[in-house]
Amino acid sequence: MANQSAPKDIPAPSQSVPPAWLASRRLLLGPGPSPVPDSVLRAMSQPTVGHLDPEFLRLMDEIRGMLSQVLGARSGLATPISATGSAGMEAAIVNLVEPGDRVVIGIAGVFGGRMAEVARRAGARVETLEAAFGEPVDPQALADLARSGGGAKLIGIVHAETSTGVLQPLDGLADAAHEMEGLLLVDAVTSLGGVPLDVEATGLDALYSGTQKCLACPPGLAPVWFSERALARLRGRKQPVQSWYLDLSLIEGYWGAQRAYHHTAPINQLYGLHEALRLVLEEGLEARHHRHARNASALWAGLEALGLELPVARAHRLPPLTPVRLPNHLEDAPLRRALLERFHIEIGGGLGPWAGKAWRIGLMGAGSSPASIWQLLSALESLLSEAGHRVPGNPLAAAQAVLSAEGAFA
Ligand code: PLP
Repeated sequence: MANQSAPKDIPAPSQSVPPAWLASRRLLLGPGPSPVPDSVLRAMSQPTVGHLDPEFLRLMDEIRGMLSQVLGARSGLATPISATGSAGMEAAIVNLVEPGDRVVIGIAGVFGGRMAEVARRAGARVETLEAAFGEPVDPQALADLARSGGGAKLIGIVHAETSTGVLQPLDGLADAAHEMEGLLLVDAVTSLGGVPLDVEATGLDALYSGTQKCLACPPGLAPVWFSERALARLRGRKQPVQSWYLDLSLIEGYWGAQRAYHHTAPINQLYGLHEALRLVLEEGLEARHHRHARNASALWAGLEALGLELPVARAHRLPPLTPVRLPNHLEDAPLRRALLERFHIEIGGGLGPWAGKAWRIGLMGAGSSPASIWQLLSALESLLSEAGHRVPGNPLAAAQAVLSAEGAFA
């Protein structure tokens, strides 16, 4: 039979149009993205307007106002960067650091390591203090390191380390930074909207986050906040910010009073963020943080009743993200695949030294609910039993007991 492939200069015969692509509905209980409420998805499907349309400018102002409220910020600049959390990290560093600056970074996992790498690439002299995987950085030791060697221009730390499920204490870091006219930068990608963090009360200077975790919005935007002190550092730079796209003084020109075109804002994405922030404020910050803490406690009890070990000490656990160790007789990848294919539930694999040995379970934003816990624990109970694991307790009853004790059904 003759070779039927068309010569390169002749267009291939037209193919039939593929069917519209439809995503499956998954229960997203991994390290992010988290489940997106229908009202956020509906908001995003509204008609696209121009990025300088007066209606859209009003929406931008409301986003800045609501974001400031969620952050507890009474001053400074709160604005979303049009890209994911990593761009928030990059924006914070390239705006606040100049080549040669001494920067001290606490590393308690993958994302702290990434922050140090971004600072190195920005030309900083980076010094790090590393914690054992599954433990927080000692904030006192980090403050001491920053004070040594003539002080640091910036202390950087991840508040909620998504690779280990550790909540980082920030005690004393702001005072240490300010004593030496330095700044404190915090990664709040996995904490904002799920764990208490008031930027003014904590004395932060800069923070970045992402939309796809506890804010319950799809990925694609990175809320950032700069204090007045951080803005003064930006304005006093000797050299222009090396990244044109992430230069906050230019971004401020669009989001602030000037309304100068900088880039075409992701309009519909911002409709989604507006609704997501509205939902956070409607629930109330305290209630939302309490919900995350309570549901996480119930999950922990259920996982222990399944006979699984939680590797992070209770005092350091991060409610939105729980790592759980797999016993040697259970295999990571096939179980997670079965969970996704049979039960439509996504959880995350371990990172770094925990790759293949642990799972990361997220109860973030709209995903932090008793219903998510029931579905996950029941699915795990059946899959683990099939895989020959002996379940020592009653996971649903254990989770239910915590929820009842904490008044979840009152
Ligand atoms: N920082 C932390 C703590 C994260 O968990 C993540 C993502 O999971 C990032 C930064 C990077 O965010 P993104 O993946 O949205 O770029």
